[in-house]
Amino acid sequence: MKKNIVTEVVDHELCIGCGLCAALCPEEALEMTWNRYGEYNPLEIEPCTRGCGLCLKVCPFADHEEDEGTIGEALYGSVPWIGHRPEVGYHLATFVGHADEHRSAGASGGMATWLLERLLAEGIVDHVVCVAPTGDPERLFSFSVFDDPPAVRAGAGSAYCPVEMSGAIRQILENPGRYAVTGLPCYIKAIRLAQKKDPKLSARVVVTVGLVCGQLKSRPFTEYIASLAGLVGEVKGVRYRGKSQEQPATNYHYAFTSTAGDERKIFWNDGIAEAWTNRWFTPRACNYCDDVFAECADVTFMDAWLPDYSKDYRGTNLVVVRSPLIEDLIRRGVRDGGLLAGPVPVEDVIQSQAAVVEIKRRHLAHRLYLDLEMGRVVLRKRVCPAREKSPSLRREIALKDRMRRSSRAFWAESEDPDAGRLREAMVPDLKRLSRGRKMARIMALPIRTVIYVRGHFRGKHHE
Ligand SMILES: Cc1cc2nc3c(=O)[nH]c(=O)nc-3n(C[C@H](O)[C@H](O)[C@H](O)COP(=O)(O)OP(=O)(O)OC[C@H]3O[C@@H](n4cnc5c(N)ncnc54)[C@H](O)[C@@H]3O)c2cc1C
Repeated sequence: MKKNIVTEVVDHELCIGCGLCAALCPEEALEMTWNRYGEYNPLEIEPCTRGCGLCLKVCPFADHEEDEGTIGEALYGSVPWIGHRPEVGYHLATFVGHADEHRSAGASGGMATWLLERLLAEGIVDHVVCVAPTGDPERLFSFSVFDDPPAVRAGAGSAYCPVEMSGAIRQILENPGRYAVTGLPCYIKAIRLAQKKDPKLSARVVVTVGLVCGQLKSRPFTEYIASLAGLVGEVKGVRYRGKSQEQPATNYHYAFTSTAGDERKIFWNDGIAEAWTNRWFTPRACNYCDDVFAECADVTFMDAWLPDYSKDYRGTNLVVVRSPLIEDLIRRGVRDGGLLAGPVPVEDVIQSQAAVVEIKRRHLAHRLYLDLEMGRVVLRKRVCPAREKSPSLRREIALKDRMRRSSRAFWAESEDPDAGRLREAMVPDLKRLSRGRKMARIMALPIRTVIYVRGHFRGKHHE
């Protein structure tokens, strides 16, 4: 049997469900469908006879010579005055701010939607491909093509659920024009790999807009949180980034509507955080991602998770720009008042995502080490396999991976999955995690005391 996307990626649970393989397959042999865990995977609807391997060549999680570092270097390495940091990739300019008119609907400061509108309004692109709600419980969001600047606002907000882009990519291939496309880091990488193989895609996708990503979530994550919120009926719509005046930006809420006409909302601190940070319902592919800042994108947007900004419930963006064209647009936006933004050190940008950087570098190194130990396939990443030195972190990585796997299996295997029962099943591991953290704090106490005492005496000496 010839190697293809199913044998090499899907069967190893490494598919993130972007859909580039299905869009580019010359035999149209692949179709994106839901797997039993509520993640998108390509399904072979026709037996593959050609065996060209294009599906693998455009897959962000297949084994390649190229990675986000080499792709980024080819795209941006020769841009004058551009800097590079291993955590961020290339960076020409870094900003903090928001777009006044787009802020309330935006996930953070609304700058991504502002930019997409501006690209259309100035005729830099003819079409914008971004994610918008569908109102269809079967697939809550889809990649949609917009041609009219105000229409792009329908896509404002973040979709923390699987969205595949095979249909949108086919539309780009069938309809000439210049397109801007939004995407998570792995989706943008897939587009870049596909552009190398397809001259039409290369010519037509002229702007890529990346979003920082800590992890994607499967569809049951949304069902779990809706159930936790007490929603009656099937989820028909969800707004993942609701803002409330009385809460800081960090305690945003999800607002659900159901097929039964019910409406519920639930705050980050009331259960979302537990599922999110413990990696419940995270696809396995996310465990093997080393790109935090969408290094292959012309511009990357994220939340300003820094003490100076995260209290402001209205939301604030940090932005990493790699393309001179985008830098010019943003600077002009600031001058004409559409944007309230200014420069910020790249160190602050890295600091804002410190937890994600740690997961995608330090935790990843340990996971790769475990794969090596267990005789499993070790993926080629920019991080080398290395056994984690801290016993408590080793334990935390193991516990979170167990919760990731069991939450996924629980929802797939239950006839009538319910948030209460899932949470009950997770309690033993949550307790182990909390005990481990307490122990780590106690063990660190003597070290902290020595540091304090030394600092104290040094301080006295200098007085
Ligand atoms: C799965 C996921 C994980 C994320 N993790 C982090 C994180 O760890 N740290 C962090 O700081 N930020 C993270 N973000 C990014 C953050 O949620 C905001 O999208 C970003 O700050 C832009 O905010 P904005 O107000 O400028 O965007 P908006 O003005 O709301 O515009 C966002 C644009 O992105 C598009 N979009 C939304 N969801 C998707 C999607 N799934 N795929 C492709 N396009 C999409 C929308 O259609 C819209 O055009 C994540 C986003 C997603 C979708």
